[in-house]
Amino acid sequence: QKARHGTTRAQTMVNTAPPTLNENSNQPKIQIALDDFDYFSVLGRGTYGKVQLVRYKKDGKIYAMKSMSKQLLQEHEQVEQSLIEKDILVKTRYPFLVSAHYTFQTPDSIHLIMDYVPGGELFKRLKEEGRFQESRAKLYAAEIMLALGHLHSLNFIFRDLKPENILIDDNGHIKITDFGLVKSLMKSSDSTTTFCGTPEYIAPEMIQQQPYTKSIDWWSFGILLFEMLTGLPPFYDSNVSKMYRKILNDDIEFPSFMSPEICDFISKLLDRDPQTRLGASERDVEELKEHPFFYGYDWDAILEKRVQPEWVPQIGSATDVSNFDEDFTLQREGPSLHNAAGISNQVQTSFAGFTSAQDNGL
Ligand code: AMP
Repeated sequence: QKARHGTTRAQTMVNTAPPTLNENSNQPKIQIALDDFDYFSVLGRGTYGKVQLVRYKKDGKIYAMKSMSKQLLQEHEQVEQSLIEKDILVKTRYPFLVSAHYTFQTPDSIHLIMDYVPGGELFKRLKEEGRFQESRAKLYAAEIMLALGHLHSLNFIFRDLKPENILIDDNGHIKITDFGLVKSLMKSSDSTTTFCGTPEYIAPEMIQQQPYTKSIDWWSFGILLFEMLTGLPPFYDSNVSKMYRKILNDDIEFPSFMSPEICDFISKLLDRDPQTRLGASERDVEELKEHPFFYGYDWDAILEKRVQPEWVPQIGSATDVSNFDEDFTLQREGPSLHNAAGISNQVQTSFAGFTSAQDNGL
């Protein structure tokens, strides 16, 4: 069996685009254009575009610019979804979630100007280090679950938790990025049905095409925690069909170096019954916080980032990209330019909701 981190990055799958978004028409409008930025390396690529390191000439600050092609979003019926992603990035401020400070659009693309998180992906760290000690994984787990709990409290399901979407900040704390699959619910107990996510992390009820709730994020969180401690997701198989069968049927084999508390915590997250899974009730993340694995934890200190991470990235300068994958960072492309000719007026109109936004706090 090949190690997950010896292979390629896990690919997010998307089927259909759902909900609607109430645009906040009171957002301050500002004029931003592509040539307001200096362009450095590419940091990563997603399904509909790329993320680049940029400097905004007007404030001299460094940001990560995510640009997505309207054409591709249109072809994959992801226009509404991109508006949800933008809305979360602009409106949500939480210590462990990436935020956007500006957004704007050009005839062919939409652009999100986010905090640059310079420590790179948790994926790269795991690939280089193999696995993490329990104490280190525990702090990452605590920060990640607070972030998921916050999204759930806003009636969002994240739906794509994996090490590629978890970044490490300059002090070693985590920040979740990529809200491209987030589902917006009317109320937190609602369910939904779209099959999407990344195979290694998909919950059994989604494979069985049953309606699912926010508790699918707690399943993915259990998978991620196991992977942080062992280097491999528990049901990993290079053959996706076999992996789905394992997710539905196999017992988890816990290596002997894992403590009884963490094995119990993971077992309760990887409960195949979504009703009894840890975190499934209205109390959500509060249930996880009370598990004996976190006995004695000071949650205020976690939230305020007063607990010192064991690993702190080395960062030489504001534009240091050495913690990102060279496959991307050796690429220097400048602004995204796609063909806007094939984009219908109807689609351009639907991007009217993608108003320019500016963070007044800057
Ligand atoms: P995404 O399409 O949002 O998944 O982004 C693709 C990749 O770009 C991610 O996996 C990260 O490696 C990188 N990336 C995304 N957002 C940021 C950010 N705010 N700071 C640094 N790198 C980022």
